[in-house]
Amino acid sequence: NRIVTSIKLHEDSETEQTLRPRTLDEYIGQEKVKEQLRIFIQAALKRGEPLDHVLLYGPPGLGKTTLASIIANEMGVGIRITSGPAIERPGDLAAILTNLSDGDVLFIDEIHRLSRSVEEILYPAMEDFALDIIIGKGPSARSIRLDLPKFTLVGATTRAGMLTSPLRDRFGVIHRLELYTTDELTRIVIRSAGILGIPIDPEGAREIAARSRGTPRVANRLLKRVRDFAQIKADGVITQEVARKALELLEVDSIGLDEVDRKILRTIIEKYNGGPVGLDTLAASTGEESTTIEDVYEPFLLQMGFIARTPRGRVVTPLAYRHLKIPYQEQQRM
Ligand code: ADP
Repeated sequence: NRIVTSIKLHEDSETEQTLRPRTLDEYIGQEKVKEQLRIFIQAALKRGEPLDHVLLYGPPGLGKTTLASIIANEMGVGIRITSGPAIERPGDLAAILTNLSDGDVLFIDEIHRLSRSVEEILYPAMEDFALDIIIGKGPSARSIRLDLPKFTLVGATTRAGMLTSPLRDRFGVIHRLELYTTDELTRIVIRSAGILGIPIDPEGAREIAARSRGTPRVANRLLKRVRDFAQIKADGVITQEVARKALELLEVDSIGLDEVDRKILRTIIEKYNGGPVGLDTLAASTGEESTTIEDVYEPFLLQMGFIARTPRGRVVTPLAYRHLKIPYQEQQRM
């Protein structure tokens, strides 16, 4: 497993609960999203109604689950956490819905992976807080409507474009989470170190933040790995020097790229003259799944300006050549 992956790893689980911010004030960054949610939450509380359904999209590890828990906490209600692939049959979803309490938040991660038949249960549930059940078969079949508790659905997905439009249209609030800046990640690292009792200085925190690919989950993971290094190879305090050495050992470079990123960039440069190359071709020649490239590796490379999307495929930019110390020649692109 890549140490810089934004996907949740087993090693993340152990500290996940302790590190998770519980209130909007504790949640660092994503200012626009927070500001809007704060208003919606206050208005809903004032009216004594549940919050409108919320769709959060963006790469993994940016705080979608965290935000769903914060919404429940700020609304003073319970939360039920599940995911698209976990809800296999319509009956599974019906059971979850009927077990909610009034006002509860239902968080469905990877909501784009719900099957069509499950999704159809969700439409009347979201719209009218109702469950339509068919009783009997053939000509004597009839439909009865069951009232459900009023709930708030918080859906999360890596890309909003993967949702069917009937589902997307039923969300009142849609927010895209952005990759975090190094400043924001530095604050997150300092906060996490405080909670875990890890001695760190601001430059040490910044060094970890700069290599965390805009992703809090990665920042927290790197912090724990660097702590181990600091305890064994130094006096336990994470300074810039200690962080740098530890991350070099882990083969995470100065801006957070690892071997897989470099392989993707080099493949485009060496095999396809810098591109453009189609996503599927790239997937085949790097041995990665195209959805993994698109959802997990690419957002960061795009954000860094290392690759660009063109109608004919992906191209590597001069910036990436410079980072990889490969000479860039304009005529290569002809
Ligand atoms: P997602 O659901 O988008 O994959 P999570 O909500 O599980 O991401 O976030 C991963 C971890 O990153 C959390 O356990 C939390 O500790 C940390 N985290 C995420 N967003 C923030 C934030 N804005 N401020 C502080 N920590 C955060």
